[in-house]
Amino acid sequence: PPPIPDPAVGVGLSLHHVSRRWGDFNALDDVSLEARPGELLVLLGPSGCGKSTTLRIIAGLDTADAGRVVIAGRDVTRVPAGNRDLAMVFQSYALFPHLSVARNILFGLEVRGLPVAERQQRLAEVAGLLGLGGLLDRRPAQLSGGQQQRVALGRALVARAPLCLMDEPLSNLDARLRAEMRREIRALQQRLGLTMIYVTHDQAEAMSMADQVVLMNGGRVEQAAAPDRLYERPETVFAARFIGQPPISLVRPPRMTGRLAGARAEDITLTPLADPMRPRPPRPAHPLTGMVVDREYLGADCLVGVQLDGFAPADGRLTARLPGHHPASPGMVVSVSIAHGRLHVFDAATGRRVA
Ligand code: ATP
Repeated sequence: PPPIPDPAVGVGLSLHHVSRRWGDFNALDDVSLEARPGELLVLLGPSGCGKSTTLRIIAGLDTADAGRVVIAGRDVTRVPAGNRDLAMVFQSYALFPHLSVARNILFGLEVRGLPVAERQQRLAEVAGLLGLGGLLDRRPAQLSGGQQQRVALGRALVARAPLCLMDEPLSNLDARLRAEMRREIRALQQRLGLTMIYVTHDQAEAMSMADQVVLMNGGRVEQAAAPDRLYERPETVFAARFIGQPPISLVRPPRMTGRLAGARAEDITLTPLADPMRPRPPRPAHPLTGMVVDREYLGADCLVGVQLDGFAPADGRLTARLPGHHPASPGMVVSVSIAHGRLHVFDAATGRRVA
């Protein structure tokens, strides 16, 4: 493998009670978070939740109305962007169209007046690392989307900043390339030991890359946790719904007043109770039963929708993920079971987890 550029031992980053208002609109409302050195922290959330604003405040491109930004133990809240020792990759890549790949990568170093020999050495390292060796004389317009993305990444890495910020860097790429690049970026980040703050609204990207996911909603931190923790133990209905595909099934059991019960599709099992063409046997009162209302075949598995007996129509829909060859089909009467310990219970009024 190509030599590893030496620097990059990541540094810690924290935000303390950061708020940002536009007029009377709270774009960020008391946001606190902490990335440990060498950690990849993903800011995840729907459009407009404040991810980019958070990133811009970390970068120093925008200023918080209240709160503090601390990088490597130093309060940088009032430090200008240029003096924060970080690198940033934008969604647009922001490459200079009239400059070669090499000059694009080296631009920041030229501005900083680094000696030519040092620049050339770093260029060779980064080009090797990113597989850009044969492309250094091309212009951005002569590159594929993935190659342009690598150049933008190269420009961030060549600076050897211990903290790297990325704002939806893969959103211009097609699905296959996105999946490939997220593995590449994750591998590079780990290999170099960088601390990385990565903005995306794509939960699959967040789950596959992150050490820690900070899920944002309406300018606030909804939940911050490792990906598996967020998936297995969402603290709110919003978090439960935002993570997971198909979305978690949430039902309002008639007897659990004020509660919402949720189960993920893979934790739900359906057992056919009777051939729908024959008269149905009487059903026991307790175990959950229902009728299959739709089935989506996906190959390896299928998604089966069930309407539960005894629930109001809007409150009793479940989706189960079953093997592709499972016999469930619309009209079939089934008993429904949830894997032990896999039921999520929320307070219907506050949306907070209660069990
Ligand atoms: P997206 O995924 O769509 O990029 P985001 O989560 O990054 O969204 P931000 O760009 O941080 O969201 O914006 C947060 C909120 O602040 C949005 O409602 C946005 O309209 C608002 N906002 C951002 N910049 C400004 C501005 N300069 N003036 C007024 N409102 C702004």
